Amino acid sequence: MKSYKVIEFGQPLQRVDAPNPVPQGTEVLVRITASGVCHSDVHLWEGYFDLGGGKKAPTKGVAPPKALGHEIVGEVVALGPNASGAKIGDQRIVYPWIGCGNCWLCKAGDEHMCATPQTIGINKDGGFADHVLVPHPRYLFAYDNVPTELACTYACSGITAFSAVKKVQGMDGGKPILVMGAGGVGLMGVKFAKTILGQAPIVADIDEKKLELAKQAGASAVINPKNPDARKELAAISGGGVAACIDFVGAEASAAFGFNGLRTGGKLVIVGLFGGTFTQPVAMFPLTSRTVQGSMVGSPAEMAEMMQIVSAGKIEPVPLVKRSLDDADAALQDLRKGLIMGRAILIP
Ligand SMILES: [Zn+2]
Ligand SMILES: [Zn+2]
Repeated sequence: MKSYKVIEFGQPLQRVDAPNPVPQGTEVLVRITASGVCHSDVHLWEGYFDLGGGKKAPTKGVAPPKALGHEIVGEVVALGPNASGAKIGDQRIVYPWIGCGNCWLCKAGDEHMCATPQTIGINKDGGFADHVLVPHPRYLFAYDNVPTELACTYACSGITAFSAVKKVQGMDGGKPILVMGAGGVGLMGVKFAKTILGQAPIVADIDEKKLELAKQAGASAVINPKNPDARKELAAISGGGVAACIDFVGAEASAAFGFNGLRTGGKLVIVGLFGGTFTQPVAMFPLTSRTVQGSMVGSPAEMAEMMQIVSAGKIEPVPLVKRSLDDADAALQDLRKGLIMGRAILIP
């Protein structure tokens, strides 16, 4: 088994060769066919998240040496003696946001919020490799006719966008919501919003090129918050305020623009990890009855629901940039420098 691991934070990934692991108990060994490189891999490799104001939070869980990579698709090649529900040759997406399995969150189906996570590609070796060990077949999801390289992206960017949109379902009154940020995950959010809410969202971004992409992805209107009249524009388009905003940027300015653009009782869902600090007068919360909710990836049940929608061909693909697994370190660096247009995918 070949993998590219973080040996030291902030230093080049190093190739590690080892015998293939033998699955024990309920474990499944998957031969990786494609693995996405996510922006959070850059933070995990650096060893911290930027909280703004010069503050940094260490990314917990990555204890080097560790193979990053949590967007994995592959073929089942070996099963532990108690692994039922999968068979050799199955082509599956790996759900990576695995919990301890014993706490009340895990028992309620919210493994992705577990306080002692066992995430593949963070706490456990992940997809920057040609094989990966998955603890149980229940974390394997079929992807039917979705192209293999595209399928892996649903394990993180897909489920992140899907779960955020699900958090505002039923509160939009049939009107467009606001999506902040038209990067890769934001564009997926536009597509899920159209499908799940039945209304194309309004999209805001400070990059005119990205607004163009948002229009192509079907945005009902686009706004550049740098425009001094942007607040008024949003109020005019939304009839006094949107019911919900999903902030895929997660910066001080984007969160403030989204929050201030809400109607009474509206909800801001923050997904992005750009960083910074967002302040509001405390009295604004009761006076406007607004909610601010964070959203990080999604649950196994959401994964299953999303894959039904994706397999039915209801979500158009995002652009992919294919690289060899041997280019893992270069791909990570290119992503860090903003040189990758679309989703970088490693092919072993
Ligand atoms: Zn990710
Ligand atoms: Zn747990």
